[in-house]
Amino acid sequence: MADPQVEVRRSRRRRRTVTAYREGDTVIVLLPAQMTRAEEEHWVAEMLARLQRSETRRRSPARTSDEALLTRCAELSARHLGNRATPKSVRWVPPMRTRWASCTPADGTIRVSERLREVPSWVLDYVLVHELTHLLVPGHGPNFWKLVRDYPRTDRAVGYLEGLSAAAGWGITEED
Ligand SMILES: [Zn+2]
Repeated sequence: MADPQVEVRRSRRRRRTVTAYREGDTVIVLLPAQMTRAEEEHWVAEMLARLQRSETRRRSPARTSDEALLTRCAELSARHLGNRATPKSVRWVPPMRTRWASCTPADGTIRVSERLREVPSWVLDYVLVHELTHLLVPGHGPNFWKLVRDYPRTDRAVGYLEGLSAAAGWGITEED
């Protein structure tokens, strides 16, 4: 993944501690006010590496196989959609040019782009909830989003995916 956008915020109250977190597609790095430019450079690189490592650790077990993906969909359908979405098959597929995932409500199949294998589990979960919801509601109207938003990290995940696509130059701008 290419480097994300970074915003450095300096705080007078901070003495030693450095913190970094993601806000949409930007990584915010909080630094003590008195740090030098060289220290800033060092810490920004260090915190980006740490963030990446911790996000990699949080990858979903669903990444390992189609079977694990289907199991995860069953859990998410139970938790967020009252068990109403019951896909027949959920499969990892080679990267699609304009989409993260797709579904065919007629035969209850969902396909997920290999590009999502490395994302944090909460991002993959959002994509799965999105596709599961399409088994119930076509299109992206208010009824669709009302169901999807039962998944609490919807907005953050949408921001994450926009940032990932932009950083990697994939041009995936549409939800599907
Ligand atoms: Zn969609």
